[in-house]
Amino acid sequence: MLKTISCGDVRAEHTGKTVTLAGWVHRRRDHGGLIFIDMRDREGIVQVVFNPDNAPGGIHAIAESLRNEWVVQVTGTVTARPEGTENPNMPTGEIEVAAEQVKVLNESKTPPFYINEESEVDELIRMKYRFLDLRRQSMRDTIIMRHEVVRFIRDFLSERGFLEVETPILIKSTPEGARDYLVPSRLYPGKFYALPQSPQQLKQLLMAAGVEKYFQIARCFRDEDPRADRQPEHTQLDMEMSFVEEDDVLNLIEELYTKLVETLFPDKWIMRPFPRMTYAEAMASYGTDKPDLRFDLDLVDLSDIAAQTEFRVFTSTVASGGIVKGFSAPGYASLPRRQQDALIDFAKANGALGLVTIALTGEGDVDDLTEEGFRSPAARFLTVEQVKAIAHRAEANMGDMVLIVAGPAKTTNQALSALRNEIGQRLNLADPNLVAFAFITDFPLFEWNEDDGRWDAMHHAFSMPKDGHEAYLDSDPGKVIGRLYDLVANGAELASGSIRIHNRELQERVFGVLGYTKEQVAERFDQLLTAFEYGTPPHGGIAPGIDRLMMVLTGRDNIRDVIAFPKTQSGFDPLFEAPNVVEQYHLDELHITVEAEDSVEVT
Ligand code: ASP
Repeated sequence: MLKTISCGDVRAEHTGKTVTLAGWVHRRRDHGGLIFIDMRDREGIVQVVFNPDNAPGGIHAIAESLRNEWVVQVTGTVTARPEGTENPNMPTGEIEVAAEQVKVLNESKTPPFYINEESEVDELIRMKYRFLDLRRQSMRDTIIMRHEVVRFIRDFLSERGFLEVETPILIKSTPEGARDYLVPSRLYPGKFYALPQSPQQLKQLLMAAGVEKYFQIARCFRDEDPRADRQPEHTQLDMEMSFVEEDDVLNLIEELYTKLVETLFPDKWIMRPFPRMTYAEAMASYGTDKPDLRFDLDLVDLSDIAAQTEFRVFTSTVASGGIVKGFSAPGYASLPRRQQDALIDFAKANGALGLVTIALTGEGDVDDLTEEGFRSPAARFLTVEQVKAIAHRAEANMGDMVLIVAGPAKTTNQALSALRNEIGQRLNLADPNLVAFAFITDFPLFEWNEDDGRWDAMHHAFSMPKDGHEAYLDSDPGKVIGRLYDLVANGAELASGSIRIHNRELQERVFGVLGYTKEQVAERFDQLLTAFEYGTPPHGGIAPGIDRLMMVLTGRDNIRDVIAFPKTQSGFDPLFEAPNVVEQYHLDELHITVEAEDSVEVT
């Protein structure tokens, strides 16, 4: 190699040795005669010093010419830094390398942004020059950590008898509820491959094939509408196991994630065992199936108390089948008026019709509450006893404010969940070092799609109904609970999975509820249904997203920062400028005529 040691690996124990380094000029400082170079490679930075008195002629002139990001090779002697100049903040801070030879391996233009500081840079520029962005320390650390995480997962599962099996990228539609990316076929004019939304059917076929324990670090492609934490292609740890039940899958994931965090993120802590709650419990207590459990602020149902009040908003909501729910915001009783209004706007922006506040402004115990002890826009419709009952249910103390939303269950939960996260954040209730993993189980198998007037699979079409729930498939699909589970952490969904159907007849009934015609079923799922007729074992699996896991573990709030070559939020790649037009001959070969070539602004 062009180096004998990495820059970041030189230590005091190497003092007196001659080393050859190869890397980048991170920074150069001229100190009247002495020239210092911080030299960087993937492992870190070491100080190189050029001393005109000791170094052979000529090399000083080269040292003078060096600029940031030039690639150089330096040979020199490791020496202790003069007393008082050590840098305890650097792993290499006790030593420096006294240069004896230097060779420029490549020059560099002035980069469009600083590599040697973590200053704010426009993200489009960072993405256009991703090869430079990845040189920056925080991105480099993330890429290294991502490798460590994936390696840990591979080792962990291999030790437990899992086989990593690759599945095709050119395949047919594998519905996971998103739009497919299509690839036109040259050899079969007018026909298309679809990129896998996940290897779902393939991993089930591997169970039919007797693989028993499968995993893959799998790329999944979904042509969905842009969202901040989404990418057109994302990476999953895709897994499937035969002869398992829910606990087998969940226990394995819990052990994997616990060991992973303990080994690679020792500064983080987790709650053991991972809390497990049903979908219904999560919706009741947090208004969402992805609760952030780093803080409490549990929601409580106030419908029964609300129904007894004289407050029309409450009574009419309950009478029309809606709910009244809320929670207590600690210390919020004295919130200034303007901020209260902002909270109301926030609730409305998140789907609530309004927000009713009860500020417990008095002193002492809630049991001793008087008319003067609280303030609320609904005060004249509420008796002191009713306010006490609400405060007790919400476990509010004097000084707190109870925030209440009334309306249909769906929008009320949605608004309260957003409010809960907002207050949790404002009050800094989340311990930044806690990764609050939890399992959510027992999801409904189907959800009603208002817009299209049909049942959609809550997760996907392949999940098994819970024992005894098959009967509702025909009579009341909304009541069917599936053998479904999610892993969540800090308010993000990290994985979904289920115990699968492995029987043709049951699978066909589920497709029937979803409104697939016989032809559609035959076209899309024939291979799986056929496999079910040849001794497919009971099986189940899960697919944790690697990108989101990396976000949660590294504390990043931008999914693009944990991916080496991401796309923008609108699915554009500024580095390769993809997607892009292709040459006419290519289209001709594919039998494709492009009608519209509207150019869309890149964002
Ligand atoms: N294929 C599913 C998904 O991508 C995960 C699973 O059920 O294993 O969400």
